[in-house]
Amino acid sequence: MPWKAVSPIEVYKLLPRTNCKECGEENCMAFAVKLVNMETKLELCKPLLKESKYKENYEKLKTILSPMVKEIEIKSAEKTVKIGGEYVMHRHELTYINPTPIAIDVDDSMSKEDITKRIEFVENFEYEYIGRKLYLDLLAVRSVTNDPEKYKETVKFVSENTSLPLVLCSLNPKVIEAGLFVLSDASPLIYAATKDNWREMADVVKKHRASVVLFSPGDLNMLVSLVNTYLKLGIEDLALDLGTFTGSKGLAYTINAFTKLRWKACNEDYKFARFPLIGTPIVAWDEALLMNSLLIRIGNLGFKLLGILPSLRNILPLTIREIADATDSKVLVGQQWLDKEIENLLVGAMTPDSAMKYFKITPSKAVITGGDRTDIILAALKTDTTALILTGNIYPEEIVLNEAEKNKVSVLLCPYDTYTTVRKIESYRFTVRYMNMKRLSRLVTELEKKIDLPSVLEELGLVS
Ligand code: SF4
Repeated sequence: MPWKAVSPIEVYKLLPRTNCKECGEENCMAFAVKLVNMETKLELCKPLLKESKYKENYEKLKTILSPMVKEIEIKSAEKTVKIGGEYVMHRHELTYINPTPIAIDVDDSMSKEDITKRIEFVENFEYEYIGRKLYLDLLAVRSVTNDPEKYKETVKFVSENTSLPLVLCSLNPKVIEAGLFVLSDASPLIYAATKDNWREMADVVKKHRASVVLFSPGDLNMLVSLVNTYLKLGIEDLALDLGTFTGSKGLAYTINAFTKLRWKACNEDYKFARFPLIGTPIVAWDEALLMNSLLIRIGNLGFKLLGILPSLRNILPLTIREIADATDSKVLVGQQWLDKEIENLLVGAMTPDSAMKYFKITPSKAVITGGDRTDIILAALKTDTTALILTGNIYPEEIVLNEAEKNKVSVLLCPYDTYTTVRKIESYRFTVRYMNMKRLSRLVTELEKKIDLPSVLEELGLVS
């Protein structure tokens, strides 16, 4: 059943009606009005909580006043950010209760100097939108080293240098617990429990009374099963993440999944969906969405939009040859396919089952993984893969080379670890060397398609 607004009279009838003022209001009716306006908390009526004769009424009030999406608090020593707490599916039905907060990440491989710069950026960021100032709300601290001690040190440093609440990100419960130990006066959000770590993560969550994200990329049934398990364990401060996928198919899947979950919570009262939803959308930001949003905002301000300079990732995909150059790789298979373009880059560092969900919906990709991860490599080769980048100079098994050859997939053997390999590719991606005339001329051609160059030159007074 969709949520229905309750009247103060309905609420008043279920209160003790003694006008004792323990809640801080003059009488029960005033308290009822504040309750329906979401300006106070039911738990402030102590008689209702303490006296057994009101138990049934208390349960009824909890049900009729609860939002369809549970509210979760993420706290630092100084600030609280609330997520969820929503009553309706569509924004026009009711105002935002808790506008969506945005988190920006730091990770435990960054230098203290870089972390400080990032924190300063996040804390000083503001954006004015229709007379309202918007800010960034949270800092996500990611573990990329998977080292509990390193992570603990990073979380301590971040928490000492920001007043913002934190999201602790690792799939390793030991790493998460190390971070929680230095946050005794805060309630961070933990990201994330999965089908592989749910048991150990549940122990950590219960011990520290934290809230946690349940992460099940592309698998709604598994997500429901995780919610059910956590609720049975008495862990109720949950948020849900069904994965944020890229590419046109991936983006459509992500939006549909979010919509379906929110619909089930608000209109079908489906208890396994009644939790806030989390996305990691920076990778899913689509040029079309950006264009729409800018057209509206810039148009409203009276500016003339001459074009949008898209990210190099979108207009100038790397070829396999460029990736081989950027990563000092040796070509083991597929010298003849080196000029194929790579649209997506995926790191295969999970179980084959989990990886498969991403592989299936990510077309024309290069998969970066260790040469000894035959399971991941063979899973990738069953999907639309253009290249394999095998890290750590680990020579793969013969079956990998044969399958790659059969599927016309280039195989590169790279001397660096996965993290360094990704960094090298990303930094190459954003470099267009003047000697590389082919890449430079592709860039100019693509830019001419995206922006109104004659108008830009005219506006700048560069043509007569
Ligand atoms: S504490 Fe409860 S019973 Fe007392 S005035 Fe407030 S609402 Fe009424």
